[in-house]
Amino acid sequence: MTQSPPDTQPVTQPVTQSLSQLSPVLRTAYQRAVAQYWDTHTQDPVNLRLGEVDGFYHHHYGLGDYDPAVLEVSPDERDQRIIEELHRLESAQADVLLDNLGVVGPGDRLLDAGCGRGGTSLMAHYRFGCRVDGVTISEYQAGFANDRAVERGVSDVVRFHFRNMLDTGFESGSKRGIWTNETTMYVDLNELYAEFARLLPHGGRYVCITGCSNDVTGLRSKAVSRIDEHYTCNIHPRSAYFRALAANGLTPITVLDLTPATIPYWELRAQSSVATGIEEAFLTAYREGSFHYLLIAADRV
Ligand code: SAH
Repeated sequence: MTQSPPDTQPVTQPVTQSLSQLSPVLRTAYQRAVAQYWDTHTQDPVNLRLGEVDGFYHHHYGLGDYDPAVLEVSPDERDQRIIEELHRLESAQADVLLDNLGVVGPGDRLLDAGCGRGGTSLMAHYRFGCRVDGVTISEYQAGFANDRAVERGVSDVVRFHFRNMLDTGFESGSKRGIWTNETTMYVDLNELYAEFARLLPHGGRYVCITGCSNDVTGLRSKAVSRIDEHYTCNIHPRSAYFRALAANGLTPITVLDLTPATIPYWELRAQSSVATGIEEAFLTAYREGSFHYLLIAADRV
């Protein structure tokens, strides 16, 4: 983000620009580093090739068993079949998240906090018929996701914004539901849940899918540290989620340990042409029990 120093600005600044200067989207060196990661990792086949299958682009992992037949097809078809299967599993993951949002009507508004390329937001719109806003600190991702919404003719109701989920700028009480799909490891949970408690009305639902470290096995393992290093993130321990939720008036209704259901995705991905090299760290962390894949749904009380 480039901003002119105040003394070189014209006298009549548009209001939006002067507001964004008071409250920039990227506030810390860490947030700038995270934004830079997503602004530059734009060509990774593990995201692009999977998204190209049906136009829903995800930056999260998969759930459920894969069909072993995809490994046995002829060599010229094998790669594409594996990619389609990985995409089916990542879309199934988003469906599990949306299953836990509770009752959502066409007049409601939802927030996808850390929306990536917007796949889950679009799925939510098609499922509930409602308005969805996605926020990401990657300007590139917001642009990419808005282009997909335009292509589908839903850009009036599904909108993506270059904004910080710690300070979204949306009106208090305006979101019936909020989710974070693999984004909470980039932020302080107390700051995040204070913002969500502001945005949700009484009875509003928050759903989180995240990887978290296991307090029972102690401090973060080498495999968890490798994941942090790879993504420039800070994986929180499981206990941190429940403390921060409770401190911000968010009361859990569902907790699912999705670890066993995500392992097949990693096993298949490790054998695919789109493997990035981080697969073994995930598999080790899950198998040794130092890391969990968790869904938490909580209500604003
Ligand atoms: N939820 C998406 C993307 C997950 S990748 C999906 O399921 O496909 C992590 C995302 O978190 C990226 O889009 C990144 O820009 C976003 N993110 C990280 N920190 C953020 C912050 N402070 N505010 C908004 N988005 C953030």
